Amino acid sequence: MVERIDEMKALLLKLKEETLKEINKTMKSTSEIPSGEPSGDIYDQASSERDRELGLLLNDREREKLRNIDEALLRIQEGDYGICEECGCDIPIGRLKVMPFAHYCVKCKEDIEKIQAQTKRFEEEKSYSEIPINDDEDM
Ligand SMILES: [Zn+2]
Repeated sequence: MVERIDEMKALLLKLKEETLKEINKTMKSTSEIPSGEPSGDIYDQASSERDRELGLLLNDREREKLRNIDEALLRIQEGDYGICEECGCDIPIGRLKVMPFAHYCVKCKEDIEKIQAQTKRFEEEKSYSEIPINDDEDM
């Protein structure tokens, strides 16, 4: 049990290091875009603008990952890590290695996804029926 968590902690710390590196790389490449240089070409400006947005987007995703890692590390500290929030069982190490941020065991996750899928389907059906069907089109 403790070994299991130690292994995950090492894995998460490594993941955090990699993510931080990735963020730094993105930030560096974003700041490398020459600013204030009058190129005059509107297309160039538009494309560098898009690059910057892409960089920010990637950064957002990496930041989100970092947040998840920190949260997982905090849960390790508090002794909540690797425990299913639904049924309280130990989440198998195999699953944690694939999904280090898993909050639920496979069974509970499947149950939750089933309910979510049902809710989604229900909402989709509802929105479909709200679309007025025009069946007197003389085409
Ligand atoms: Zn569970």
